[in-house]
Amino acid sequence: MNQLEAAFLARSREKVSDLEHRRKINHALKQSDDAFQKGKEQFSDLAAARRLAKNSKWKAIEYLDRRLEEFEEKFTRHGGKVIWAENAQQALDEIGTICKAKNARTVVKSKSMVTEEIHLNPFLEDRGIDVIETDLGEYIQQLAGEPPYHIVAPSMHKSKEEVAQLFHDKLDALPGLPPRQLTLFARKKLRKKFREAEIGITGVNFLLADIGGVAVTENEGNARLTSSFPKTHIAIAGIEKVLSSVADLHLFWPLLATHGSGQKITVYNSIFTGPKRPKEADGPEEMYVILLNNGRTNILADVKAREGLYCIRCGACLNVCPVYKNIGGHTYNTTYSGPIGAVITPQLRGSRNYKHLSYASSLCGACTEVCPVRINLHELLLDNRQQAVKEKSGTRTEAFTWYAWKRAMLSRSVLNIANEGTKNFFMKNLFKSAWGNERELPVFPGKSFNEQWKKYLDAGEERAV
Ligand code: SF4
Repeated sequence: MNQLEAAFLARSREKVSDLEHRRKINHALKQSDDAFQKGKEQFSDLAAARRLAKNSKWKAIEYLDRRLEEFEEKFTRHGGKVIWAENAQQALDEIGTICKAKNARTVVKSKSMVTEEIHLNPFLEDRGIDVIETDLGEYIQQLAGEPPYHIVAPSMHKSKEEVAQLFHDKLDALPGLPPRQLTLFARKKLRKKFREAEIGITGVNFLLADIGGVAVTENEGNARLTSSFPKTHIAIAGIEKVLSSVADLHLFWPLLATHGSGQKITVYNSIFTGPKRPKEADGPEEMYVILLNNGRTNILADVKAREGLYCIRCGACLNVCPVYKNIGGHTYNTTYSGPIGAVITPQLRGSRNYKHLSYASSLCGACTEVCPVRINLHELLLDNRQQAVKEKSGTRTEAFTWYAWKRAMLSRSVLNIANEGTKNFFMKNLFKSAWGNERELPVFPGKSFNEQWKKYLDAGEERAV
């Protein structure tokens, strides 16, 4: 077992027995689910919408090279600049160069998982730049010194009392402020930063190849301020974010809104096609789009795994996952958590270190059932496991255990071995620590199913006679 896996198991054990943590996230997830159940009523045929969305993403990803070049050509025609970054370091270096050229002291940011992936904030802070998260949930996490807990709701694990205490401790707000007052308090602080910042950095929800546009979806208006107040706007996108056409948004905007937050459509949806034009009053003077690879072409190279690139980061698979509901987001200790994180992290960062995430699943299929682009998440998890076995990234003990398990499963005499005695003995002595103290060990009945079934049939024959 590697260190990452051991740490993951230790954190999981701690979290599953933390009933207060579970109460808070199950409350938040229940609210999400109620909103989703209501929001999805807007689709007369949700199954058809999901099929169509999967088909659109399939097309975009199959021709990814062409779509990205098309995006670049159109976006640069409108005065924007495109930067191709092979990995996180290249993206950081490019952003560092822009910040230096603009003599940036303050950078405002709107919510973006890809900037978490490349660890942008510490990079800028190390260069003496004041970086401020402007999405309220991200702002709370930044104040707390924690990474986002959930792809869509970064601070869902915090109660309103905890947030009030945090604002009091870090910002000197009055103690015990209610949520509305906390929001107004944050808003006042952030407005000042928007005016001061030389550079605004946003993520990207969709890259629109046919018009060379960047679509950004949000509920607070902070991404619009981030992209329009500062003189320079940098948008960072994983290369998989591409859609073939702006016309696809009629499907993807409502699907993302409903699966992400139960809304029919998110409050603010913006499309940026470059910096402001000569006669326009608003907008940045310069706009850059960074197209980040960072392991995504490894996924693309695998015809089966490629489907993981269809993800639109709605977070719905996290909300329904029984494992996520029990261990929560931080336990994964990766940028992307829950089922989609368990699928793509071993592919992006290496199976040897992250294969354990593919095993953190009951394979119930709830994630696949809810995904708006119908990614076969639970099958991809199985494929990851298969890959890990092929790479022999397990231990010898694990390999021997599976060998013994297989032999036993294929042997009727072993399966019928004295149930109560032998099987319960092995259960107690070999599996107790893996099973954990929080759960009761299962107890084998006196006779195996095969023996009971045989007895039942024999009795039936006797009855018939
Ligand atoms: S895998 Fe599907 S459900 Fe999960 S975040 Fe991505 S799009 Fe949403």
